[in-house]
Amino acid sequence: FARLRSGLQRSTAKLTEGLTGLFTKRKLDDAALEELEEALITADLGVAAAQRIVQNFRRSRFGKEVTDIEVKEALAEEIAAILTPVAQPLAIHPGKRPHVVLVVGVNGTGKTTTIAKLGQQYGEQCKKVAFVAGDTFRAAAVEQLQIWGGRTGALVHAPAKQGADAAGLAFDALKAAQADGTEILLVDTAGRLHNKGALMEELRKVIRVMQRVDPTAPHSVLLVLDATTGQNATQQCKVFSELVNVTGLVVTKLDGSAKGGIVVALAQEFGLPVHAVGVGEKAADLRPFDARDFARSLLG
Ligand code: GDP
Repeated sequence: FARLRSGLQRSTAKLTEGLTGLFTKRKLDDAALEELEEALITADLGVAAAQRIVQNFRRSRFGKEVTDIEVKEALAEEIAAILTPVAQPLAIHPGKRPHVVLVVGVNGTGKTTTIAKLGQQYGEQCKKVAFVAGDTFRAAAVEQLQIWGGRTGALVHAPAKQGADAAGLAFDALKAAQADGTEILLVDTAGRLHNKGALMEELRKVIRVMQRVDPTAPHSVLLVLDATTGQNATQQCKVFSELVNVTGLVVTKLDGSAKGGIVVALAQEFGLPVHAVGVGEKAADLRPFDARDFARSLLG
């Protein structure tokens, strides 16, 4: 919680700066509500969440005199109410051997790192974990997973050569995982969004081919979003939801980002489960997402 709070400092500053002075013993009238809405939008909470919050304020407090502290407390409650339904840990089905987690997202958002962090956490729970280095064109991504595999004890299914067919690799990896009793198979994917058609084709092929081995796979499709990209994250969520059946989100780089409010915008707009948040580059820096802690941290 302390790590999240310090990580969100810049987001908090942005939001509270917009609020400070707005309500020092002031009547909550139309003008004040409009300023509140603006402050929320400026802090990346998105138009829909800002409007929802302001409407609730209007209903419960219109015409009343409020102080900064009352507004902050009420805001934390409103934000927690938006986040609570989406704060859901990634559920691993014990009956699936392996439970396949397909990890998608634009390059650079933190897919590979998130896979490594998940691998470490499941490893600590004594689960048998394997990685699939499915971004076969990026030698760096494959290498990184191999390094993390070495550190975390996860077996790494890497392509035989750069640019090898990702679907073929996923097929072989899933077969091998079934045979060796792997419990969780984390599959990295390419994230070149500039060619949407090709990306969609590749992701769908990976899915189709894995379903030949296990018709229920993938059991989770995690979309990794980088909080520092703000509204771009919302756009990416929209695009990837059209490409594949996204089942949940991981939002990374909340440490030091001034755009932590984007998590609220994502929750309001998509309602997809937020499984975890990234607050740093180390394995321990992937944290469960707690609605109340997050809301309170955001308000400082
Ligand atoms: P990918 O291209 O989506 O696989 O992204 P990577 O996993 O390679 O991550 C890109 C960069 O972001 C790397 O330098 C990571 O160390 C960094 N990164 C990932 N997650 C976080 C996070 O939560 N916080 C910070 N500060 N950096 C992160």
